[in-house]
Amino acid sequence: MPVEQVETLIIGGGQAGLAMSAHLRKRGLSHLVVERDRIAERWRTCRWDSLVANGPSWHDRFPDLSFEGVDPYAFATKDRIVDYFEEFARRIEAPLRTGVTVTALTRDGDGYLAETTAGTIRARNVVAATGPFQTPIIPPIVPREAGVMQIHSADYRNPGQLPDGAVLVVGAGSSGVQIADELLRAGRKVYLAVGPHDRPPIRYRGRDFVWWLGVLGKWNMATPGPGTEHVTIAVSGAQGGRTVDFRELAARGVILTGRAERFADGRLQFAADLAENIAAGDASYLSMLEEADAYLAANGIDLPEEPMAHKIGPMPDCAVNPVLSLDLAAEGIGAIIWATGYALDFGWLKLPAFDAKGRPAHDRGVTEVPGLYFLGLAWLSRRASPFIWGVWHDAAYLAGHIADNRP
Ligand SMILES: Cc1cc2nc3c(=O)[nH]c(=O)nc-3n(C[C@H](O)[C@H](O)[C@H](O)COP(=O)(O)OP(=O)(O)OC[C@H]3O[C@@H](n4cnc5c(N)ncnc54)[C@H](O)[C@@H]3O)c2cc1C
Repeated sequence: MPVEQVETLIIGGGQAGLAMSAHLRKRGLSHLVVERDRIAERWRTCRWDSLVANGPSWHDRFPDLSFEGVDPYAFATKDRIVDYFEEFARRIEAPLRTGVTVTALTRDGDGYLAETTAGTIRARNVVAATGPFQTPIIPPIVPREAGVMQIHSADYRNPGQLPDGAVLVVGAGSSGVQIADELLRAGRKVYLAVGPHDRPPIRYRGRDFVWWLGVLGKWNMATPGPGTEHVTIAVSGAQGGRTVDFRELAARGVILTGRAERFADGRLQFAADLAENIAAGDASYLSMLEEADAYLAANGIDLPEEPMAHKIGPMPDCAVNPVLSLDLAAEGIGAIIWATGYALDFGWLKLPAFDAKGRPAHDRGVTEVPGLYFLGLAWLSRRASPFIWGVWHDAAYLAGHIADNRP
């Protein structure tokens, strides 16, 4: 079979691959996008049915296309997001080949050879846009044979998919909190294991949290602050957008616990860190309100004050007297949902583009292997990098780099 030649091969047809295609097109640079499934496949099949964007539609989008028919202050459904990316791909006439998996990438002279399920492609440049959240991680705590259904949040769809009984959700980032809330609304008894988290207000003084993260410079942070590398952000666009509030969840009946730690003799043990995690989340919430107030004062911006937002109630009883151990069978827990994050999988990328710990090694996506780029990874250039609008700007930078390095 003859080897196909392309100038730039983009691997992955999610938002990162499409943003890259758009910016190369703007510069008149030829390229091909290959996607193993369909456009925006992870939005189609790796998310729960009721998911909506965490940010309002004026923000969680590319600058070149708005969400027609969606109120700018509303949160687009995941299906609307898929339609959006399909429409975007049509508009930019993205040279896209779906159903093609790259199985290996190797160096070939001054370019690369990509082995794919549809033949070999030779490319001068390659952009790996295969996603920030690739392989779901379930920590090895509860053995498979423990007699309880265990799934990752990537495989959760809706309450009806779970066996009858109570549900334990582990992880209180955006996914865990939203899933726990949905299960509670469906009448389930819900336990939620809460680790360290930040919980920005969804809105404050009439502005969305995404706006505040922008004006306070937080989207542009280049690295997480010391000690906060593993702190997840809990926000929710569900129910029209609500600030995540663990006291409110507890008041509505969710039983909060500390981090899930060990399992023995049918009992799951939790760390005694629940009150500490809630208090640290409160502190991050309050400090953002203070920064916001200071920003408005310093810039002479007059927005309605919101004193009630500063009021934090007492610790919920389940944090004062925490459950430290649960007998899963005796409590009737039929399912555990692990909302515990994802790992990267670059098994197909057989090049020295990784550091000693196996993490992609790059500077704003540019690797030391000439012509090889990463796009869409968490903290690629800044906090915004894995998100819809953030990846747009990283793609613009990489397109500039590719243009500047043409022979
Ligand atoms: C639950 C959840 C909710 C989120 N909500 C928001 C939100 O509201 N707003 C926001 O801005 N961000 C959100 N994100 C973050 C981010 O926008 C998404 O994770 C998004 O899917 C990342 O897009 P991507 O193109 O970088 O990667 P992906 O969407 O993962 O796309 C990568 C593509 O590469 C393909 N691929 C992988 N390997 C290969 C291969 N070897 N060959 C060919 N193709 C391959 C995959 O099939 C996939 O389609 C959310 C993430 C999660 C997990």
